[in-house]
Amino acid sequence: MKKTRLKLKKNVWFALGGVLVVIIMIVIGVNVYRDYQYKQTNEYKLLEAGYTEEEIKLLEEKLTDEEVTTLAEAEKDEFLIQVLQDDYFIKSYLDRYMAYHQDNEGSSARTVVATVNTNTDYDYYTKDFDTNVEDDTLMLVNKYYHLDSSYSPTDLVNINNKYYYGEGHQIRSVVYDAFIDMWNEANNNGIYLIINSSYRTYAEQQQVYDSYKDSRGTTYADSIAARPGYSEHQTGLSLDIFSKENTTTSNFKGSPAHEWLVNNAYKYGFIQRYEEDTEELTGFAEEAWHWRYVGVEVATYLHEHNITFDEYYAYFILNG
Ligand SMILES: [Zn+2]
Repeated sequence: MKKTRLKLKKNVWFALGGVLVVIIMIVIGVNVYRDYQYKQTNEYKLLEAGYTEEEIKLLEEKLTDEEVTTLAEAEKDEFLIQVLQDDYFIKSYLDRYMAYHQDNEGSSARTVVATVNTNTDYDYYTKDFDTNVEDDTLMLVNKYYHLDSSYSPTDLVNINNKYYYGEGHQIRSVVYDAFIDMWNEANNNGIYLIINSSYRTYAEQQQVYDSYKDSRGTTYADSIAARPGYSEHQTGLSLDIFSKENTTTSNFKGSPAHEWLVNNAYKYGFIQRYEEDTEELTGFAEEAWHWRYVGVEVATYLHEHNITFDEYYAYFILNG
């Protein structure tokens, strides 16, 4: 009896030992398998490639699963991370950002995003869109967006010759009201603003452009004037502004009136449309006298952030 019991006990221990070994093997197996599975994930591969957890979150947030999977198989793309972190990154332009970067390797992510967002990765006048006049005071006209020859604003008013030497000049009423407020405040500060150019019809712009083109050719004309349809003056939202003391394109920049406008015009909804360092993005050399009405909210945003109206339009209006 005693012997049998002992034998039985031995068998029980043996069986238990076997079960234990099996359990240990299963646990090890499961862990090995889990580890193998984890190593197949994008997260593991991206961490191995050198991305931080925060960067991986950014990739997953801004890109499709398929795009993340492709990235996980490649080396870390530092430039891509910088582009995704840019304040004005637009997802649908990603391929163009990467293509522009490839052709212009020294360019910063900021430059690449700004360039593509303003379409200046294409030559002027080679990519053409109709201006959406429904955007009203925020409509975009540049060397990629143009107005039809038949477009003219419906709320044009005559400008009093107190503000413009000469008769018959017009501007949109919303702009005129804002200008008068601005004129009065400038006047309170000893500055006498004078408008030198306002609403221009398509035909008038054609005349301006053709006169340059006929005398010195297309390249020269393009460097100095917008082609008909591509001038902001046709919107009725732009004014060329000088002062009583500084009346020419060569002496207005940096004058007291210009300085005053730089610091105050946004409060009335105006922006200097073509600035010193934005020629690459706007397509126009600096024009200290060309002021565009965009309304107080947008003008204030642009005054506080270092971007052009063209970029604002791409990010907030077209893709907003
Ligand atoms: Zn102008």
